Amino acid sequence: NNVRLQAITSVEAYTPPPISFDPGEEPGEIFGQNVFSLAVMQKRLPKAVYKSVLATIEHSAPLDPDMADAVASAMKDWALEKGATHYAHVFYPLTGLTAEKHDSFLDPVGDGSAFASFSGRTLIQGEPDASSFPNGGLRNTFEARGYTGWDVMSPAYVLENPNGNTLCIPTVFVSMTGEALDHKTPVLRSQQAMAAHAERILRLFGHDPARVVSYCGPEQEYFLIDSHFFLARPDLLNAGRTLFGAKPPKGQEFDDHYFGAIPERVLGFMMDTERELFKLGIPAKTRHNEVAPGQFEIAPMFERANVASDHQQLLMTTFKSIAKKHGMECLFHEKPFAGVNGSGKHVNFSLGNTSEGNLLLPGDTPHDNAQFLVFCAAVIRAVHKYGGLLRASVASASNDHRLGANEAPPAIISIFLGDQLADVFDQIAKGGATRSKEKGTLIIGVDTLPDLTKDPGDRNRTSPFAFTGNRFEFRAPGSLQTVAGPMVMINTIMAEALDHCATVLETAVEEGTDFNEAVQDLLTSIVSDHGAVIFNGNGYSDEWQIEAEQRGLKNLRTTVDALPELITPEAIELFSKYSVFNEREMHSRYEIGLEHYLLTVGVEANLTLEIATTTVLPAALRYQTELAANVAALKAAGVDADLSTLVSVSAPIAALRAGIASLSAALAHDHDEDPLRAATSARDEVLPAMASVREAADTLETLIADDLWPLPTYQEMLYIL
Ligand code: ADP
Ligand code: MG
Repeated sequence: NNVRLQAITSVEAYTPPPISFDPGEEPGEIFGQNVFSLAVMQKRLPKAVYKSVLATIEHSAPLDPDMADAVASAMKDWALEKGATHYAHVFYPLTGLTAEKHDSFLDPVGDGSAFASFSGRTLIQGEPDASSFPNGGLRNTFEARGYTGWDVMSPAYVLENPNGNTLCIPTVFVSMTGEALDHKTPVLRSQQAMAAHAERILRLFGHDPARVVSYCGPEQEYFLIDSHFFLARPDLLNAGRTLFGAKPPKGQEFDDHYFGAIPERVLGFMMDTERELFKLGIPAKTRHNEVAPGQFEIAPMFERANVASDHQQLLMTTFKSIAKKHGMECLFHEKPFAGVNGSGKHVNFSLGNTSEGNLLLPGDTPHDNAQFLVFCAAVIRAVHKYGGLLRASVASASNDHRLGANEAPPAIISIFLGDQLADVFDQIAKGGATRSKEKGTLIIGVDTLPDLTKDPGDRNRTSPFAFTGNRFEFRAPGSLQTVAGPMVMINTIMAEALDHCATVLETAVEEGTDFNEAVQDLLTSIVSDHGAVIFNGNGYSDEWQIEAEQRGLKNLRTTVDALPELITPEAIELFSKYSVFNEREMHSRYEIGLEHYLLTVGVEANLTLEIATTTVLPAALRYQTELAANVAALKAAGVDADLSTLVSVSAPIAALRAGIASLSAALAHDHDEDPLRAATSARDEVLPAMASVREAADTLETLIADDLWPLPTYQEMLYIL
């Protein structure tokens, strides 16, 4: 009755379900089928109502409440046709998960019957009880009410479930006082702040700009393992990562998995998930094997940041549920397996609008390029000035296992520009670019600015913030995180940088300085003040750690180092100036971050103790007893007994016991009231004690008889799919 051996037998016997799509189906046929999209609205709404909604979506105009009833009624009819029985305001609380409260469309009437109803007011606003969501001191239980409000820019959709369909309405979630209790509210606020200042820059360049928005294209990495193994690993089940496991004889050294042929069973899963995503209007685009065995990636096309963020959450829940259907578990943890690559969620960021397109795309004319360089320079200033905040936006107990581990960017936030752009900025720093590296003659001077190729150029996988030809790719976010946190940071620090640039240029123009000269001066001053953040070398190297320190760049190695960045006076001033967070909201995010860290480490520590005590130690003792019995039997038979195996097993058993004792002691410490001190001792005492337990257990795994070892091993979990 060894759970592990049973799991192996069940995995071998498993047959995946048949693919659910009809082979005659046209690929485009189902796209957006379950979305209350603009096209659906245009068909179903009175013209005036449709126009009003469109204005809200495209120009961020406030939604006219008088129109809400008409929208709600059309939405209800559409949803009922799609088989929905309930509607739900879907929101994104600070647990990092998605929350939904379902209400039936049915309203009882006096005569004992009921009819389907859905008013404009219920569409626009909901009132879920907020008392059980993290709020970091923003709300007392006596004022537990929370409000959800429809984000009109993110379309409603019907979520199918064999047990009943639901109309889902993406919403913000705020407290009674209007303070944000969620991830969506600050995305919308920060997008608005960034847009206002980006538009000032565009006006300086002679445009009459449409509303600027920020775009986000998230690349999601994940692992798949067979459910039988997953269920036989209490650590994966409860903590999302393995807390034990010896390094397999074959890891990822052969580089044979990256971009390799996708295993048949996994392809079936991918086809099925993509189909579901398409129905929900999520533009799934790229899929491939990743570096580690059992690791894969999906990258949907980029979208408006708030929509991308909602879609990203929906993608994760879809992946989880479809994986189960295929007898697998989808792991989004940043480091489910030690010793092989972890998973990230690269956030590709750009900004733009319908009139000017992508503002991070080098243009065809010098004039466009001057504008492009201003936007790039703003990114340089933002990342240099607020690198600590970017780092804080990706801080979590789970991402700490990945950042800086030579597989993901280091904790030092720097920018990679690529050869060509770095060269241009280099020349700007020296007083003006006069030629481009590739093209020979480009003149950045008083009235001519460089012609840049659109080729993304070379790549640098070791940089946390890399220019990739038409966007910046923020590579530090973890696979488990929502993209909202990083997007809020990027938008807000860009708002400040663009505000700065616009103010400098407007002032210069007012004072009669030639515009091109003013641009030139602005670029030069930004490069000389903030050029230290540009680094095109190897971010994984030890030399960079030293050089970065000399350049004055922060190296915030762990969550505990990074989170205090959220409550520095500069951070609080920045966020209140651009109306993204007030001081209380910043403190609440800081406290929730620490609380989450503490809870995560606490759960893992208790699991480590439990598994070590109830699973690993008993297996080790059984084997030790077997060996001892063997020695005794040999002695009784008068044969020379070799004690070396018994001795080699006994040493790690003693180490395991010692580890268990030190972990218990670390956990028994009185919890410090102060969350930062408590988190610091979790990091400095609990995590090392967990590591010592693991080390002894992993040694035992390599020594104990295979038929006695209870936990599925790395080679089984990673290679049997
Ligand atoms: P790579 O692995 O080469 O970085 P992928 O194709 O895996 O690239 O993913 C690139 C991601 O960047 C996709 O989500 C894509 O939609 C997104 N992207 C492309 N152009 C932009 C842009 N202008 N702004 C934001 N995201 C973008
Ligand atoms: Mg990629």
